[in-house]
Amino acid sequence: MDFPPTGRGRVYLWTALGTLGCVAVALVVDSFNFPNLSPAALRRAIAVDVLVPMALAIPLLFYLLSKLRELAIAHELLRRHAATDSLTDLLNRAAFTREVEETMADARFSDGGMRGTLLVIDADNFKAINDTFGHEHGDAALRIIAFSIRSVLRAADLVGRIGGEEFAVYLPGTTELIAEAVAERIRLAVHEAAFAADGKPHQLTVSVGGAVFDRHLPFTELFRIADQQLYAAKQNGRNCTAVSSIDHYETLPAAAA
Ligand code: GH3
Ligand code: MG
Ligand code: MG
Repeated sequence: MDFPPTGRGRVYLWTALGTLGCVAVALVVDSFNFPNLSPAALRRAIAVDVLVPMALAIPLLFYLLSKLRELAIAHELLRRHAATDSLTDLLNRAAFTREVEETMADARFSDGGMRGTLLVIDADNFKAINDTFGHEHGDAALRIIAFSIRSVLRAADLVGRIGGEEFAVYLPGTTELIAEAVAERIRLAVHEAAFAADGKPHQLTVSVGGAVFDRHLPFTELFRIADQQLYAAKQNGRNCTAVSSIDHYETLPAAAA
């Protein structure tokens, strides 16, 4: 059974165990006097050894452990807040980078091996949306794009907002074929999303660049390749995808672990 620091179960468990410990200590310490006591006095002594620690330890331990739980909850909220982009609720750039690096490091030692894809997604002609409808509607469009991207991903995939109108997705364990399909699903989901500002419908589109890898390399290298693919997608007319294996690029080798 798992008792996380933010759960009530941990408070109850440690209050019970701590109280039992206190009762045991009182009984052991007092047991040196037990041989000299009459049966009635022995019963009284045992009752006192059990009841007094219980009366003191239960409220005290419960209070202290509840405060520790509140601290753990506050810490967890702060950690999540620091990792989250406030506009879209996705991971922010720093948290996305950190989580991808951690996932890649874990994959290095797993049975599945080192395989996956980094996608970089950029909203097309976004400046025009701000210029036409205003910044607030631009923000709403960014939230719709974020939701559309998230809606076509698996729970294990990572997604972050890594810049103004730029997003990134990490797909662990994917082949080039699957990565291309996911990139296309993302493009379509945004294309089909309904966005209307002041009652005027407006077509949102994104371009997607992707780097598919089957060996470890630094995140910055992976990002550089995905970004070059994104540039190719933009050059190709926008509202399209360009996904490539890292084999088609010169890459720096990863530093030894
Ligand atoms: P391209 O297709 O080449 O990517 O064109 P673009 O207009 O999307 O690219 P550009 O870099 O020229 O403009 C990006 C725009 O994104 C400009 C900026 O005002 C807008 N933007 C960046 N962050 C935010 C934000 O948080 N909210 C809003 N509303 N707009 C943002
Ligand atoms: Mg853009
Ligand atoms: Mg951009």
